Amino acid sequence: ILLVLIVLFSCIAYYFSFVMSKRAMVPIRHAFKRQQDFVADASHELRTPLSVMLSSIEILEMEKDQLSKMPARMVDNVKEEVKRMTGLVGDLLTLARSDTDDPTQMSFERFDLQSVAEKAILSFEPHALEKNIQLNLDVQSSITVFGQKERLTQLLYILLDNAIKYSPENGSVKLHVWKEKENVFISVSDTGIGIAQKDLPYIFERFYRVDRARTRQNGGHGLGLSIAKWIVDLHGGQINVESKLNKGTTFIVKLPPKG
Ligand code: ADP
Repeated sequence: ILLVLIVLFSCIAYYFSFVMSKRAMVPIRHAFKRQQDFVADASHELRTPLSVMLSSIEILEMEKDQLSKMPARMVDNVKEEVKRMTGLVGDLLTLARSDTDDPTQMSFERFDLQSVAEKAILSFEPHALEKNIQLNLDVQSSITVFGQKERLTQLLYILLDNAIKYSPENGSVKLHVWKEKENVFISVSDTGIGIAQKDLPYIFERFYRVDRARTRQNGGHGLGLSIAKWIVDLHGGQINVESKLNKGTTFIVKLPPKG
C-alpha cells in the first residue's frame, strides 16, 4: 500500500508540476510573440518613410550641379545611409517573419535553378566590374529544385554580395550549381580576405560581424548569413563554409530532393 501511495503521490506531483510549468510559460511565450510582432511592425512601418526619403534624395541628386561642393557631398552621404537603413529594415523584416511565419503554410514550387543563377550573376556584374572582379558561372543545365523561388534567389544574392564585398580588387568570384545523388549543390567561392577559424562558428549568428569597422564601411550589418541559414533550413538543407585568411572563402549549400 505504501508503495502504491508513493507512486500515486509522485504521479500527482509530476502532473501538477507539468501543468504549472506549461502555465508559467504562457506569459513568456506571449512576451516573446509581442517582441517579434513589434520588430515586424516597426520594420514594416519604417519602409515607407525610407522609400520616400530615397526618392527625394534621388531628385536632389539630379540637381547636384546647382549645389556647392559641401551640400553635394552631404547628398551622397545621406543617400548611402538611407540605402543602408533600407537594407537593414528589409533584413529585420525577413528575420521577424522567419520567427513568426509557419513554414508549412509557405508555398513551394518546382523551378529551374539555372535561370535564377544566370539572373543573379547578371545583376552583380556592374558591382563586380567596379572592383574589376571576374564573375564566373558554372551551372549544370536543367537543374530543378522544389522550394521558394524568391527565398532561394535571396540566398544567392546574399552569398554573391558577400563574396564581392569581401574581395579586394582584381579577384574572382565563382557561382557553381550542380547535382549529385539527387541533391542540389550551390557553392559561391571567392579569392577574398577570408575568415579566421576562430570566427567561423559565429558568422551565421544575427548581427555577428568579423570586423565591425570594415563591414560598416562595406555597408554590412551582420544579418545576411543568418537569413541565408534560415532559408537553407527552411528547405531542409545544409550550409557549410570553408575559408583561409587572405586566400578566400567558399560557401556550400546542399538542398535535398523534395516533392
Ligand atoms: P554582413 O552584412 O556584415 O556582411 P553577414 O551576416 O552576411 O553580414 O556576414 C557576417 C560576417 O561574415 C561578415 O561581417 C564578414 O565578416 C564575414 N563574411 C561573410 N561572407 C564573407 C566572405 N565571402 N568573405 C569574408 N568574410 C565574409
